[in-house]
Amino acid sequence: MLNERDRKGFLLVLSSPSGGGKSTIYNALLEMGEPFGFSVSSTTRPPRPGEIDGVHYHFISDEAFKRKIAEGEFAEWADVHEHKYGTLKKFVEKALAENKIMIFEIDVQGAVQLREAYPEDTVLVFIAAPSAGESERRLRSRGTDSEEDIRIRLRNSREEINRYMEYDYFVINDRLEDAIGDVISIVRAELLASDRFIGEIWPD
Ligand code: 5GP
Repeated sequence: MLNERDRKGFLLVLSSPSGGGKSTIYNALLEMGEPFGFSVSSTTRPPRPGEIDGVHYHFISDEAFKRKIAEGEFAEWADVHEHKYGTLKKFVEKALAENKIMIFEIDVQGAVQLREAYPEDTVLVFIAAPSAGESERRLRSRGTDSEEDIRIRLRNSREEINRYMEYDYFVINDRLEDAIGDVISIVRAELLASDRFIGEIWPD
């Protein structure tokens, strides 16, 4: 459906406060069968039931994480909800070298760092629930977080939502199918940007 031939790849960052639905959108993109790359972050957070090491995250210790920071291995990293999360530089650079559209599900602090590191290649999309109440309802319906965790996430959501203007695009996730359509439209438009064309014009 997406014609990525002769187009430069880019880093598509999806961020949303907890309960915004970015994971659902991310999973929908994953199932579309398009040639997207999906960045697997490293984190010091313990796995939730059903999460698989190397698939959902690389689950690593605090010491290992700090070592990677010291050795400059992260393209970006941040403290989020009292744990550390980061993206390894080597995955980002491989994706760009292969002209992939690489999708990231990272927080606002990380999005800003990626843009600083790769200004030409980063597209930032902010996804929000249509209201604070709906955001809380979605967060609770997940049923995997403790009350303390939910409290921290709701507090952080209130701060994060105010940063939507730092993003290129703002999607309100009211009806899921519409929000997925919006993200696909963004990908399509970004692929069509004239400075992403790397083919030969009229080769005949
Ligand atoms: P969760 O613990 O629910 O999987 O993720 C919590 C938050 O951490 C989410 O807002 C998610 O976007 C963010 N996050 C996940 N991976 C990364 C990462 O590699 N870097 C940054 N900066 N944030 C991340």
